[in-house]
Amino acid sequence: MLITPVQLFDEPLEIDETIAPGTLEYGPDTRQVSPLPVKGQADLLIEHRSEERGVLSQVNDIRLRASYQGEFEVLCARCVDPVPQFLSGEFDLIFRPVEADSEFGEHSITPDETEIGYYEESGLLLEDVVREQVLLSLPPRTLCKPDCKGLCPRCGQNQNLATCSCGQIPSDPRWNALAGLADKIEVKH
Ligand SMILES: [Zn+2]
Ligand SMILES: [Zn+2]
Repeated sequence: MLITPVQLFDEPLEIDETIAPGTLEYGPDTRQVSPLPVKGQADLLIEHRSEERGVLSQVNDIRLRASYQGEFEVLCARCVDPVPQFLSGEFDLIFRPVEADSEFGEHSITPDETEIGYYEESGLLLEDVVREQVLLSLPPRTLCKPDCKGLCPRCGQNQNLATCSCGQIPSDPRWNALAGLADKIEVKH
């Protein structure tokens, strides 16, 4: 769904879209497995700026407020098994025409306007915004279970399912140092 300022001149645009699974590409370890409803509203925020010659010019910002929810599958960070993950969120963002700030060389971003994005001349693609918001809402690290044993670094065996015999071979001390480091990193989450 493409949102353009022209659609918003008379009244806000109501958004009630459903993004089908497979429509958006979220990256190698995240997959949308259910329809993703997106409900909200787009408004036009007209920003008046003074140019050097004192002529007022107008910038058409789009404010997009919406919420989404859906079922996803995220790969376990240790054993790469898909882990079901329900994700929901809401956002309230402002998008400015990409040419506005480059032309005027002026950034009028106030402290409460930290969430500024840009849209191309053709308009703002709702799907792009939702995709980015979904990715931002993902936990930094997903595990299938807290004590997931992961894959054997030598043979690739999923150690939750079976024990391989690699552990019986004396391991290289350099790998032990790395394994110790990985444990320390995990404790922080
Ligand atoms: Zn796992
Ligand atoms: Zn092994």
